[in-house]
Amino acid sequence: MKRDFPALLNPALQHIGAYKVEGGQEAEVKLNQNESPFDLPVWLKEKILGEFRDEPWNRYPDILPYRGMQAYASFTGLPPESVIMSNGSNEMLYTIFMACLGAGRKVLIPQPSFSLYEKIALLLQAEVATVPMGAELEFDADAVIEAAAREGADFIVLSTPNNPTGKSLSHEEIERILEAADAIVLVDEAYIEFSKERSVIDLISRYPNLIVLRTMSKALALAGMRIGFAMADPQLMAEITKPKIPFASGRLAEITLVNVLENYGLVNDAVAYILGERARIRSELSRIPAVHAFESDTNFLIIRVDDAGKVFSRLKEAGVLVRNVSGYPLMENCLRFNVGLREENDRLLEQLRLL
Ligand code: PMP
Repeated sequence: MKRDFPALLNPALQHIGAYKVEGGQEAEVKLNQNESPFDLPVWLKEKILGEFRDEPWNRYPDILPYRGMQAYASFTGLPPESVIMSNGSNEMLYTIFMACLGAGRKVLIPQPSFSLYEKIALLLQAEVATVPMGAELEFDADAVIEAAAREGADFIVLSTPNNPTGKSLSHEEIERILEAADAIVLVDEAYIEFSKERSVIDLISRYPNLIVLRTMSKALALAGMRIGFAMADPQLMAEITKPKIPFASGRLAEITLVNVLENYGLVNDAVAYILGERARIRSELSRIPAVHAFESDTNFLIIRVDDAGKVFSRLKEAGVLVRNVSGYPLMENCLRFNVGLREENDRLLEQLRLL
């Protein structure tokens, strides 16, 4: 007799699900995926498209997108051998996890954190150890250090600022973790441009066990282009590069990246707008008794309400799509929404005032 599907497949599939976005990806006021509300200006899109038209579409791009990597190396001041570009940082996460994990290996992930980390680790049949955030969803650096030692973690993943909590570790705390840990430490800086903390890329030259991950999907407003980067010491980078999917980034992504970096003033303006709106929303929320707003170091805010499921549905009916994050540990009845345009934020606030 032939075996049923589960017996034929990776046994880890029984413990993971397909990635889902509750409520879909369409709405009048779309605040559920931490995107930038600002698309590129048409003049810049036209310039990018002009350059893209002149490329040979029949030829493979480079095995790795060297043009994009060179541009990002210059932008960050790191040597090109320390930088690798991917098709979104999600793709880079798969690559890094494949390089660091496998059966018999252990990863430490603070909880709650970005759900993809645990999913990829389980897929690779690695063991997952967790360490909880505090009551205000803040990191506990000492608990991370202690858990890493106790668990004998091979790999530590820190999303800071963290999705979905919006809280950060300080530069000094990350350095303490790097100093103490006998592990590769991945610092996912997806939201760093919105943070009061500075990046830890300056630590790459001193800590050969550090990998820094960046996405161009948030502050750089390029979620639709799928661009991410990892940065590490060249020796570690050479290892991480081994499992990388060849030709994963297309020519358009590289050209777009180069042009956006050349016009970084657009990013700075968008970040300033988003931080201004974040402060305004938080101050407005403090006047709504039915809502508790957590402090945020990102382009999104977390609120706690009485019944997150009900509020999510009411907002959705009013055309405002947010993310229900109540399923995460410590985040009962919490909703997450990114900062949008002023009018969009007002639409959200208007609904929350009715609670
Ligand atoms: N890391 C974190 C912490 C994120 O929140 C996200 C996006 N939700 C990503 C990585 C992935 O971003 P992308 O694949 O668009 O680069």
